[in-house]
Amino acid sequence: MSNPIYDLNQKVALVTGAAAGIGAATVEVLAQAGAKVLATDISEQGEAVVAQWQQSGLDVAFMQHDVTDAQAWQRAVDSAISQFGGLDIVVNNAGIFVGGKLLDNSLEQVRRVLQVNVESIFLGMKYAAEVMQPGGAAGNGGSIINLSSVAGIIGLPGHTAYGSSKGAARLYSKHAAVEFARLGYGIRVNSVHPGLIATSMGDQVFEDFVSSGLAGSIEEAKAAVQQMTPLGRLGSVADVAQMILFLASDAASYITGAEFVVDGGLTAQ
Ligand code: NAD
Repeated sequence: MSNPIYDLNQKVALVTGAAAGIGAATVEVLAQAGAKVLATDISEQGEAVVAQWQQSGLDVAFMQHDVTDAQAWQRAVDSAISQFGGLDIVVNNAGIFVGGKLLDNSLEQVRRVLQVNVESIFLGMKYAAEVMQPGGAAGNGGSIINLSSVAGIIGLPGHTAYGSSKGAARLYSKHAAVEFARLGYGIRVNSVHPGLIATSMGDQVFEDFVSSGLAGSIEEAKAAVQQMTPLGRLGSVADVAQMILFLASDAASYITGAEFVVDGGLTAQ
């Protein structure tokens, strides 16, 4: 039985970093709830992923889009409006992981992770809010969801550069949420904070623990994370996508500037 408050029919969504992992699962979940979705990614692989969804009847399209490029953002937002007739939901999901111990990080590495994970949040909110605000080309307000991490809330070894980018994403979301609400834009902004999720980025985190000397092997790193997690398992992409669906939907219409952990209890301890 469908729940009408999770119904995204008539809604248009843009999801970044949608060729794989959490982004791909999010496109699927939003489209299954009735949204028309523009899935974007820097990788051309998104084209093939989207073609499969189209074959299964979902109303989705793909566009290549580097989230650090302001002009590409303008093209992505324009394309959602021209193809699907509006823009109501933006999921700023694209991101990269840069690990290593602080003493081993280079300034270039730190700048790169801040560029991809923080500048993208700024650009995504700016270009989305411009059209979603009253009088904008889409004009009906909506919901912006920014992917942060548990590493944006608590300290973890090997996470200084990445974690600070995610901490910035968390506070960027809160400040934008309050500003947009006070200015009457009708746009909610929230952040989602996954724990360790089984994706290629999740694998990268385990590999990095080993190469940084923080774990003896990938198996040891995985076991340590599972042990740290009260629910005793890694998260799945579906676990995160369902939270994003909730925040995108009218069920969350009184929720803005808030942070949502999806971490099996990791940060509750
Ligand atoms: P992933 O590496 O599996 O997928 C990320 C996608 O983003 C890829 O398809 C990649 O091509 C794309 N991307 C990278 N740089 C881009 C750019 N400049 N422009 C556009 N697209 C770009 O990662 P994931 O695990 O699905 O993570 C998604 C989000 O969730 C990220 O923001 C990540 O930081 C966050 N997150 C992940 C985990 C985890 O354990 N996997 C935990 C907490 C937070």
